Amino acid sequence: MNIDFSKNADGLIPAIIQDSETKNVLMLGYMNEEAYQKTIETQKVTFYSRTKKRLWTKGEESGNFLHLKSIKNDCDNDTLLIHVKPEGPTCHTGADTCWQEENKATYGFISNLENTIESRRKNADSEKSYVASLFQLGINKIAQKVGEEAIEVVIEAKDDNDDLFLSESADLLFHYLILLQAKGFRIDDVIEVLKKRQK
Ligand code: AMP
Ligand code: ZN
Ligand code: ZN
Ligand code: ZN
Repeated sequence: MNIDFSKNADGLIPAIIQDSETKNVLMLGYMNEEAYQKTIETQKVTFYSRTKKRLWTKGEESGNFLHLKSIKNDCDNDTLLIHVKPEGPTCHTGADTCWQEENKATYGFISNLENTIESRRKNADSEKSYVASLFQLGINKIAQKVGEEAIEVVIEAKDDNDDLFLSESADLLFHYLILLQAKGFRIDDVIEVLKKRQK
């Protein structure tokens, strides 16, 4: 890889550390060429510490190493994006990230939708909300609705109309998220089960 360590007078370039699975940004550090080489050799992220004024392998005292998954150069070769699998919390404060965040997987739009569904569940007496009215009807009705939408997906799968198939798929997913929530779960709980099956 052609990294431009000479762009800054001190020979240091920033390295953004991102969890390869959750995609959360864990910390930012600086690397010189030696730190970069050591990172490749040991497969554990090593920085040049500006305070310690020496190479610093993250986790050398705490054991909270950052195991290397991949390194990418940016568009003009002066900033690294490093994907890692973190062993324990990354910040020395004990937090998962240096911005005091939880390093949990989120699923973008789906997670936002789950938040909306949750707020409807908590205000289940609001009359205008379709989701709130489903929660009022109870789990059996919601489960039945999921079954109906699943059958509609099956019916449309046999046809050639992609729009209808996608529309029924959206109905199924939406009602399935509501059922999960009615049972006290989120899609992440299902994904954890799938992940365990891979091992
Ligand atoms: P560690 O590398 O985890 O063994 O931590 C050793 C020392 O490095 C800590 O006592 C902190 O001074 C510093 N340190 C650890 N993690 C971070 C971090 N994420 N950002 C800045 N400094 C850190
Ligand atoms: Zn750049
Ligand atoms: Zn920190
Ligand atoms: Zn439908």
